[in-house]
Amino acid sequence: APSSSSRRVALVTGASSGIGERTALRLQEAGFTVYAVARRVERMKGLADAGIHVVAMDVTDDESMTSGVARIIEEQGRIDVLVNNAGYGSYGAVEDVPIDEARRQFEVNVFGLARLTQLVTPHMRALADEPLARRCRIVNISSIGGKFYEPLGAWYHATKFAVEGFSDSLRIELAPFGIDVVIIEPGPIRTEWSAISRESLTETSRGGAYEGQAEKVRKVMERADRPGMSSRPDAVAKKIVSAVLANTPRAR
Ligand code: NDP
Repeated sequence: APSSSSRRVALVTGASSGIGERTALRLQEAGFTVYAVARRVERMKGLADAGIHVVAMDVTDDESMTSGVARIIEEQGRIDVLVNNAGYGSYGAVEDVPIDEARRQFEVNVFGLARLTQLVTPHMRALADEPLARRCRIVNISSIGGKFYEPLGAWYHATKFAVEGFSDSLRIELAPFGIDVVIIEPGPIRTEWSAISRESLTETSRGGAYEGQAEKVRKVMERADRPGMSSRPDAVAKKIVSAVLANTPRAR
């Protein structure tokens, strides 16, 4: 069993870009041994150069998640922190979004997060005797869109509302084992998220009953992405690290 003086280990998903990339760097700075995972490993060269362990992982692929977690346990013997950050926005009128695309978004934003949680919690329960300051944490990246909603975002909001309910229930379930579950709900952050989400509106913008709404939503997204209206991903990364390090009393 790992001793209580071992370096704590963090796993960050969606680390090839944006919030995840900054979070990997900030956690390393805070003294964690960090595993950064995403599909595009070539985009994580900077992290590897900084001494972060880079692993290819697709959160829609069970074998990829299973072998990734097994590798960390083999190399480090423990996982103290899981940051479930991988996710994307797919927008469009409900009439226009193919149900397979809606399912894909749930696979990444909800089932990927849930499956990794399932794989990691047995290893976190094994660390239940760690002192309070070193208690395990699962940080789930929801969104302000997990609380409020706009038109043409039904599926994105459905995934993030699902993350909220899942996380709130899980928090109570894991409290007896000293594992805390944290939800982060960012507002607009300047990453690749906005461009990907705007691109997903293309189908709905192409004439038809929802064209006007699509243009409006696209404009709101464009405005929200500007400096002054949005924050840098590093601001979220710092919040995540302070939530991970917060010495909160054990929930009853
Ligand atoms: P980015 O698009 O910059 O980063 C998204 C990350 O998710 C990438 O590293 C990508 O890696 C990863 N990802 C996507 N699909 C998969 C997959 N199937 N398997 C593994 N990784 C995947 O966006 P952000 O940094 O902004 O997004 C991070 C999180 O923050 C998301 O959950 C997003 O919904 C949330 N959020 C973002 C906001 C914003 O305004 N930016 C606001 C509120 C919440 P790769 O493609 O290499 O696999």
